[in-house]
Amino acid sequence: MDGETVLAVGGESEVRAAAGRSADLVDLDGAAVIPGLYDAHIHTANYARGLSEVDLRGARSLEEALARVSGHASRLEPGAWLSGGRWNSNVWERPAQPDRYALDSVCPDRPAALASIDGHTTWANSLALRMMGIDRATPDPPGGQIVRDADGEPTGILRESAAYPLRDLLPAADLTAMLRVAQEELLALGLTSVHDIDGEDCRAAYLELRAAGALKLRVHKAIPRDHLEAAIAEGRRTGQGDDWFRTGPVKLFSDGALGSHTCHMSEPFAGTPGNAGIAVTPYAELVRLIGMASAAGVAVATHAIGDQANHLVLDAYEAAGGQAGLRHRIEHAQHLRPADVKRMAALGVVASMQPVHCTSDLDLVASLLGERDLASYAWRAMLDAGVPLAFGSDAPVEHPNPLAALHAAVTRTRPGGRPPGGWQPEQRLTFGEALRAHTFGSAYAAGEERRKGVLAEGMLADFVALDIDPFTEPPDALLRARVLTTVVGGEIRWTRG
Ligand SMILES: [Zn+2]
Repeated sequence: MDGETVLAVGGESEVRAAAGRSADLVDLDGAAVIPGLYDAHIHTANYARGLSEVDLRGARSLEEALARVSGHASRLEPGAWLSGGRWNSNVWERPAQPDRYALDSVCPDRPAALASIDGHTTWANSLALRMMGIDRATPDPPGGQIVRDADGEPTGILRESAAYPLRDLLPAADLTAMLRVAQEELLALGLTSVHDIDGEDCRAAYLELRAAGALKLRVHKAIPRDHLEAAIAEGRRTGQGDDWFRTGPVKLFSDGALGSHTCHMSEPFAGTPGNAGIAVTPYAELVRLIGMASAAGVAVATHAIGDQANHLVLDAYEAAGGQAGLRHRIEHAQHLRPADVKRMAALGVVASMQPVHCTSDLDLVASLLGERDLASYAWRAMLDAGVPLAFGSDAPVEHPNPLAALHAAVTRTRPGGRPPGGWQPEQRLTFGEALRAHTFGSAYAAGEERRKGVLAEGMLADFVALDIDPFTEPPDALLRARVLTTVVGGEIRWTRG
């Protein structure tokens, strides 16, 4: 290595010759070295906050969730908001939407607002509803729903935009300090770069870390839709910046999520006639936003989960015309009409996907979508069609561990081995293909493939040493593998103590 870049790759003698006598030698003692892992879709601010909030993942019942809430509440200052969540009532013993009265029973004296696992539903207590100004007389906002009981009383469940008033109520925390902690966790998992999908506060916090010389991870920072006009006005463009901090695409939403029954499908969900999800951004508005962003040199990354949403987003990219060298993307791209896979390739749209969503969602897909002709989490079909594939975690929706993502991509089974042989195993990838999507693919999505994603002369020296050789060990070894050292820009940024 020479400064931040790789000088030579090869056998010991060639590398020694290229490095010269003055080079420091680090013996990794037989560890396998892979390029630094690059998460193409992560909410690092939410992940960082999550490290200090109540975490309801894995709770098996409403009672267990409430017990965790109660325990967490007892550690907070009087009157402080209780936040966090990531609850999933679909996997509780009695899978029913919870309500505010349950939350009031353990947390009556402070506002509580808990996001569902996919972030598209909020479970609030009575005090939080009051502070948000929501009562029986409040109409549903555009693009959202205040769920009500038979008498018309809000139950405490808020879908999509109905929860937006929270944004102004939740107190600002010291995000810079939280990101300092979070980046250590991410480096320890072998991540050297991220595409952050969170807000402007997160951008400001990263820039602060950078100014303090404390940024250890490379960041490609998305622009929230709400800030698009302002970002364009200040001259922000995708790709601006340097190897440590770069402006990314604008993030748009076309639909919601499967677990909240808000992803936009062409046919209703099984068991709920008339409900085919929610178009969060109307089609005409999508086309307008894509056109405006593209004209200003800002790439577009649009969240689309349902097949109808994916279809409309491809239509919108097509309708908005040329992208002038910009790499537009679809985030998640979970369920596509088979014919849309080829269209996606023809349009050059990047599929930014999260392999663990596939294995987490297996049961939901079976119960809500049943047997339909869909290309679901169709990595193999996408690669074969020529769709550029970028992998990530969507943390904190899922754990950010990239080795777990690679395991899911290679096996399409959960860590426990279910289903045996993998779900729709024809869509599995080889380890090499999965690793490429989680390194080079994410770099390509950001237009950085000449700097990152492979270890070769002249590329950034971002790499990870593992205690297994993932190319020769069986896939399950990925679940036990440990990162030994993470190097970013030629410097050891994290090492196992
Ligand atoms: Zn996301």
